[in-house]
Amino acid sequence: MPELPDLIYLEKKLPPLLAGQRLIDVEIKEPIVLRMLLPGDFAAALRGAEFLAVRRHGPFLVLALSEERELVIHPMLAGRFQWTNPNEKTAAGCALSLECEAPDKTRHLLHYLDDKKMGKVYLTRRGEYQPIPKFNTQGPDLLSAAFTPAYFHQKIKKSRQQVRVLIMDQAVVSCIGNAYADEILFDAGIHPKTFCYQLPDAAIARLQQSIVGVMRWGIAEVEKANPPLNMKARAHLRVRNRKDQPCPQCGTKIRRAGVRGFDTFFCPACQPLTRAQFIDWRKLDEGTA
Ligand SMILES: [Zn+2]
Repeated sequence: MPELPDLIYLEKKLPPLLAGQRLIDVEIKEPIVLRMLLPGDFAAALRGAEFLAVRRHGPFLVLALSEERELVIHPMLAGRFQWTNPNEKTAAGCALSLECEAPDKTRHLLHYLDDKKMGKVYLTRRGEYQPIPKFNTQGPDLLSAAFTPAYFHQKIKKSRQQVRVLIMDQAVVSCIGNAYADEILFDAGIHPKTFCYQLPDAAIARLQQSIVGVMRWGIAEVEKANPPLNMKARAHLRVRNRKDQPCPQCGTKIRRAGVRGFDTFFCPACQPLTRAQFIDWRKLDEGTA
């Protein structure tokens, strides 16, 4: 279930494994995840190809291959990778296995695992991303200079959505998933069902900072946890999947609720859902003093 910190981890871990590797065999176990955007057969087109580079584009991992080809992987909710030697056991849910040979003739397998079969693996020509849904419509990368407070403020002001729905809209800001959406809203002290128009300017500014800050923290925590490629590091999360556990800030029990069919976790005390939260109490005090 890769989110941005997991993808950045893969973007670091995969290149040293794949450097110099040549694809000598391809085993397709779940054809439903594959999309062939080149003429010919998927497996045949991959055999003999060499791995050149790995990069991330939003929620996509792009594995550059020789002869201007690219494997573009959109892991969605459940896609994972595993790197094994040939006699090691493959983890459950394997959809695609790529057998690789290093220059010294040692062999390894790169498996793409996907329990839900919701992810996609595209084989395309380098730079040809039009047929790949959501590739060309990603909003600014939240770690990039383009994700400014002014940009985010303007997107919030235009939206009729609940704030959790908006921050997970990849066209607004690239690559916030369910887990980090909860962590970001907790950090910003905003209830997930708050509507964007209910957010005062100070809360919008705080939310923009939380998006960047929480993601940088998540990236550092995943790197520190250093999990195997097919495992996700989630122990550092403070509210996600912690229903009924005490809030790390105030001790109140974490709650779970549904927002548009997705589970969300939050602290009802640190993230209150009342119009009152937006009343400026200092002003009221001054008024009655
Ligand atoms: Zn709390």
